[in-house]
Amino acid sequence: MAEYDYDVIFIGAGPGGYVGAIRAAQLGLKTACVESRETLGGTCLNVGCIPSKALLHGSEKYEEAANGTLARYGVKLGKVDLDLSALQADKADAVKGLTGGIEYLFKKNKVDWLKGTGSFKDAHTVTVAGKDYTAKEVVIATGSSVTPLPGVDVDNDKGVIVDSTGALALAKVPAHLVVIGGGVIGLELGSVWRRLGAKVTVVEFLDQLLPGMDGDIRKEAAKIFKKQGMELKLGTKVTGASVKGKKATLTLEPAAGGASETLEADCVLVAIGRRPNVAGLNIEGIGLALNARGQIDTGHDFKTAIDGVRAIGDVIPGPMLAHKAEDEGIAVAEYIATGIGIVNHAVIPGVVYTMPEFAGVGLTEEAAKEQGEIKVGKFPMMANSRAKTNHEPDGFVKVIADAKTDKVLGVWCIASVAGTMIAQAAQAMEFGATSEDIAYTCHAHPTHSEAVKEAAMAVTGKPIHI
Ligand code: FAD
Ligand code: NAD
Repeated sequence: MAEYDYDVIFIGAGPGGYVGAIRAAQLGLKTACVESRETLGGTCLNVGCIPSKALLHGSEKYEEAANGTLARYGVKLGKVDLDLSALQADKADAVKGLTGGIEYLFKKNKVDWLKGTGSFKDAHTVTVAGKDYTAKEVVIATGSSVTPLPGVDVDNDKGVIVDSTGALALAKVPAHLVVIGGGVIGLELGSVWRRLGAKVTVVEFLDQLLPGMDGDIRKEAAKIFKKQGMELKLGTKVTGASVKGKKATLTLEPAAGGASETLEADCVLVAIGRRPNVAGLNIEGIGLALNARGQIDTGHDFKTAIDGVRAIGDVIPGPMLAHKAEDEGIAVAEYIATGIGIVNHAVIPGVVYTMPEFAGVGLTEEAAKEQGEIKVGKFPMMANSRAKTNHEPDGFVKVIADAKTDKVLGVWCIASVAGTMIAQAAQAMEFGATSEDIAYTCHAHPTHSEAVKEAAMAVTGKPIHI
């Protein structure tokens, strides 16, 4: 009889766990994945990336029809009405299709889904629904959930103070939505409800939106969202909230201290970050400690301090992104099966899927300057033929290169398709490209991506179209 039930058990079937489990099975390992939700795919497929993108896409179509954008192209419409339940049904359909797809992939690859909450009995034994399962290696891929804000209690059922999961499922468009946190979730979901007709106010503790992104991008983001009609209260903190019936009253204060004010809202979205999921895992029982930020520290091979236990995705340090979790899932499976795995944590793109999109990879200009001398090339989307033709004037591309070697250190874009454009920058950086390499790569015309080439040309002061 085999020493263990499985070669590897993943706890959590989000982009980290489900992708890791499939790759482990492809590599011939006997694999199981524990998941407590009714459907596979984790935060990303159930209440994150996918449903938010469905609402972003649908709300964009509604806004184009409702605000006269389509009329410019000769598409004449009568009165435009919103059927929110149809939009929510489209979202549910996307989630159902994709989560069901993972179930199919588990069957195809012979990954066993252990349904229930997993808890360590010892480092090689996981208890699920009262039954013990053993494995040579256990990978913690339990993801993250919303960081609560003391004094602002979320109740998604009531729908007045909600988190991202509640904001994805509102039954009606709120007259006034106040978003606490001007990060990725606040701006994406704030954009959805603004497009559908809500007045949106974003309260952000810091002086700029989108922490972690390049300084120029953050400044431009504030201008763009204000132009779109969002009210921004930067450098402001929320100190409390009360709910009466279907209305909330928030108390705000300048972040630096000062006189407080109140703000009434029909709905409040709390989006101040996410924290790792470790409760109930009994990691203390196997002697595994958390770092000061509540995360599980690992080595490059995702090994934790406990022999036979590894961790990946949102539960470990690094950006909380689905593609980072997926790449770590593949790498951890390859480490377990072959001893070698690859994730380049210096080249992980980040995208905010608003309109326009905000995207970046590598170092910000501020961080690059701290490391040494740099050259920067910038090209405005207004001078890009395709963006101009499509009436998408907002944004720019910025390429940051080492002054001596010309090696590309970071690329930042604001454009309608910045999320797609950033892929070529990531690939170039993965291959150690110089700005000259990008400048001399033939880009199809007319495409938004030509702006990446022009920004690379601008590094040496020779863009053509400005
Ligand atoms: P998760 O996806 O959180 O999956 C962990 C799974 O583990 C969950 O299903 C959970 O039920 C399960 N679990 C936890 N504990 C246990 C246990 N003890 N036993 C059994 N199961 C357990 N990222 C992007 O890259 N692009 C986006 O567009 C994007 N949009 C987002 C939008 C929203 C609204 C949110 C909230 C997040 C978004 N993210 C996005 C972030 C992305 O969802 C996460 O980075 C990603 O899901 C992390 O993957 P993971 O596998 O580490 O964890
Ligand atoms: P975030 O870290 O992106 O933004 C949180 C914001 O809240 C920050 O700007 C922070 O300064 C602010 N804040 C914190 N405390 C505050 C307070 N008391 N009052 C006012 N503002 C406060 O976090 P998020 O938007 O909640 O997203 C969580 C995670 O989910 C992110 O790490 C992100 O990577 C991931 N995510 C990614 C995508 C994407 O890739 N498109 C989309 C959604 C979520």
